[in-house]
Amino acid sequence: MQMKMTKLEERAIKLLLKYEDKGILQSELWHKLGVTSREGSRIAIKLEKKGIVKRVKEFANDRWTRRLVPLIRQLSIEPIKGAPCPSCPHENTCGLDKMVTPCTCVQLEEWIMGQYTNTFGQV
Ligand code: SF4
Repeated sequence: MQMKMTKLEERAIKLLLKYEDKGILQSELWHKLGVTSREGSRIAIKLEKKGIVKRVKEFANDRWTRRLVPLIRQLSIEPIKGAPCPSCPHENTCGLDKMVTPCTCVQLEEWIMGQYTNTFGQV
């Protein structure tokens, strides 16, 4: 599902993804974004409603604040690099309920076995 984002929300998400593991204090994020705490809080609430961050209450720098913990992760195409499907002539017609199916595809099976062997050694 495509979500509508403002430029500021997109910038906030890009910054948040750099702190995937433990999140970032909201005041630090506002500082990096160059916005006021009021604007920042509005962004954080919107991102929380969209399920992108979790706002966790935390005592830091002598006061209660919120830590913004991303609930999303950056994806890497590394694991599927070299897969046969993107360059396959059947790519648009292949599917689980179609005549051409990944369930019986030799090319896909060979690629998966090659990936397995590269990772875990010979079967
Ligand atoms: S599963 Fe096989 S047939 Fe289907 S798109 Fe991938 S390579 Fe092509």
